[in-house]
Amino acid sequence: MPTTPSQSSAALPPKRLPPSPEALLLALATGLAKAEAPEAMLELVAAHLRENLRADRATICLIDQSDPEMVELVALPGSSSSIAAGTKLPIASTIVGTVIRSGEPQLFVLDEREESDAQSLKKQGVVAAFVAPLRSGETTYGTFNIGFLQKPEPSDSLELLVLLAELLGSQLGRVDAQAELQRETEARRMDAIRIERLHDMESHLFQASNLNEILAILSSQVSDVAAISGLGYSKVGSSRTPATEDLPFDPNLTMELSVFVEDEMVGSLWVRSSQPTGFSEVDQATLVSVASFVSRALQRIKDRDELLFIANHDHLTGLVRRHLFDEAFELALRNAKEAVHSTSGSADENHEVAALCFIDLDHFKLMNDMAGHVAGDGLLRDIAARIQRTVGSNDVPSRLGADFTVLLSNRTPERHYQLCQSIVRAVADIPFISNERVVEMTASVGLAFFDHRASSVTEVLASAEAACQEAKRLGGDQVALESTDDVDQAARRTAASWIKRLQQTIENDDFVLHAQPIHPLQPGSFRAAEVLVRIQNEDGSLVPPDRFIPIAEQYGLICQLDAWVARNALDAMRRAIEEPSLSPSHSPSSGEGGHLPGTGPADLTPELIFINLSINSISAASFFERLKEVVLNSGVPTDRIVFEITETGSMHNFETTLSFVNKMREIGPRFAMDDFGVGLSSLGYLRQLDVDFLKIDGSLIHDVGRDPIKTTMVGAIKSMADALNIRTIAEHVADDRELTALRNLGIDGVQGYFVGHPAAIERALRIAPADRNYGMAQSGIDQQARDIATRS
Ligand code: C2E
Ligand code: CA
Ligand code: CA
Repeated sequence: MPTTPSQSSAALPPKRLPPSPEALLLALATGLAKAEAPEAMLELVAAHLRENLRADRATICLIDQSDPEMVELVALPGSSSSIAAGTKLPIASTIVGTVIRSGEPQLFVLDEREESDAQSLKKQGVVAAFVAPLRSGETTYGTFNIGFLQKPEPSDSLELLVLLAELLGSQLGRVDAQAELQRETEARRMDAIRIERLHDMESHLFQASNLNEILAILSSQVSDVAAISGLGYSKVGSSRTPATEDLPFDPNLTMELSVFVEDEMVGSLWVRSSQPTGFSEVDQATLVSVASFVSRALQRIKDRDELLFIANHDHLTGLVRRHLFDEAFELALRNAKEAVHSTSGSADENHEVAALCFIDLDHFKLMNDMAGHVAGDGLLRDIAARIQRTVGSNDVPSRLGADFTVLLSNRTPERHYQLCQSIVRAVADIPFISNERVVEMTASVGLAFFDHRASSVTEVLASAEAACQEAKRLGGDQVALESTDDVDQAARRTAASWIKRLQQTIENDDFVLHAQPIHPLQPGSFRAAEVLVRIQNEDGSLVPPDRFIPIAEQYGLICQLDAWVARNALDAMRRAIEEPSLSPSHSPSSGEGGHLPGTGPADLTPELIFINLSINSISAASFFERLKEVVLNSGVPTDRIVFEITETGSMHNFETTLSFVNKMREIGPRFAMDDFGVGLSSLGYLRQLDVDFLKIDGSLIHDVGRDPIKTTMVGAIKSMADALNIRTIAEHVADDRELTALRNLGIDGVQGYFVGHPAAIERALRIAPADRNYGMAQSGIDQQARDIATRS
């Protein structure tokens, strides 16, 4: 197909003019703006130089990040550099440095230059070097350098190179800013994590309830927020406690942070950096926060403790309030229940129980009104302090409402009672002065014991309070015991006053010992006397043992009492044995004597002395040793001593009784089973216990000989005793007929008013002159009884 010139000329592509340097630069600029890293930029620049500029050697120098006095030579890819890439040059004494310092692009004619870089360029035939700073804003990154092998022509348009350097500089700035932004973002992210962990730690610290918990949290969590390798805490005034490990002290690596509670330094936290360069600024700031968390956590614990204290303690006296008191009571009750399972629970003098005492100040209201509330409050504080001093560290004094109450830890009832007496005295000792007059302050104290059977604090408290009311009713300034039987107020009063009296009697050796003869009913049988204790009233009248023995048993005084009786009875017995010379002065006609056939005057002293022992004493751990000592030191041949134990008591505590009896028999004394017949113990039981005497209870002896059943029963007991080789004694023998019947049954000995009344032990054992007016009203009958008794 023919083509027209116009056509052909129209079809001709336009003549391709070489792109202008400006256009090329624009293209480069676009490329640079898209580049993400300095390396990519350098590549673009190098290509540009290769293609568009008559530049032989192009390099870039970048200021060394770690040493700003040096620049590093970066070769442009594809460009033959005169100096090896990676070479470091000092800024001082280089033409590159001159440009960096001046900030202005410059063409150096190398002939005239002495700088080290100029020197090495010259050696390679470079005659001129154009150096332009790479800058962005205030930051200079380095220089852009072109080496010319021939002197540059004006056509070489150095302006374009300047533009190129500016372009590159600004793009380096952009990338740098981006990197910086990224670094910052990363740092912020790390900060956020650290802060989150710090928050975590803070909230954990705030849940800690003591310093140890705080330290445990720190040692497990501080390394999440700061680079630490060790941690410790020292309280003010005490040595450092390492929380993680022992900290070798290195001042460059260790930081000490003070911990404050209420503006007062209470301790310091020690942390050691895990970095060889020590803590970074961020770490330091973080650790300062950690220390302040610790301060606040400790402050919180203190506040909480104070709040708890205020809630649980009486603001006036500082004594515990209801809640803590109830808790302490529950604990005491639990302990009592556990103790019951682990011990036999026998009630002896060492048997300890818990107790509650209720203290009410006598006439306090009146005094408070008289002296004013301030003085009244002071008095209450003083009383609280005294109560606290009087009781032991295991006791819990408290103020429930307006009253004082003490939960008393385990003691014997006697010790409890004494303690309450001390409280009464402590209150009475308070000098209370009102309107320049000394007013007497006294307290009424109610004491209630409790053991595992107590049902609630309310119940025990009510008993103690009732006892306190009783103490008040009796005039105050005293202790009253709870009533075990609410109806029996009188018994409680008696018990309380009896405890006091028994204590005094034991202390003052004021018991009176009587003895009652046991006469032989069969030929060749033994003569004996049973010791019976009494307390003498001021008017000389005597208190029978039934009135006080049960109380002594209940309140743990019986061991002392029985030991006292044994010691004094045996002492009397020893004197009776040692001083038979007194015997002849008592003629049988004095109404008490009476010789047994074929015996001399010295035989008036009974062969055997019978002494009663309470089962409570026997069950007490320490009693055996105590009694053994009494027996061995008595000076009385031990086989002349017989201890009486009741049938019922020994039956209920068989194991204890058995071991006591066995041990004691080894030393010599023998045993009699007292009040036999009421307990209906079995033959096997008797055989095991191996007693020497049976004392048949008075209730079985009454009417024996008249009442066929009783006669049969006593006869049965006698044959049983015979089978076991046990001797029999009939108690409470009241008349001739009983006596005859008993003799016919073969009973060995008799005791009773018909045979002889109890009399002062010295007379009963024949070591003191007879006193006709004292206890001898029945002596005529005694004489008659003896006559009968010795008639065979
Ligand atoms: P028991 O061991 O049965 O002592 C005998 C009691 O019977 C004595 O009373 C005695 O006075 C009384 N009695 C004697 N003959 C007759 C009589 O014909 N008819 C009547 N109805 N009673 C008679 P007592 O002295 O009042 O002693 C009472 C209890 O006190 C004693 O009973 C004994 O269990 C206890 N007891 C006395 N002294 C002591 C002691 O030193 N230690 C201990 N643990 N208990 C003692
Ligand atoms: Ca007896
Ligand atoms: Ca008896």
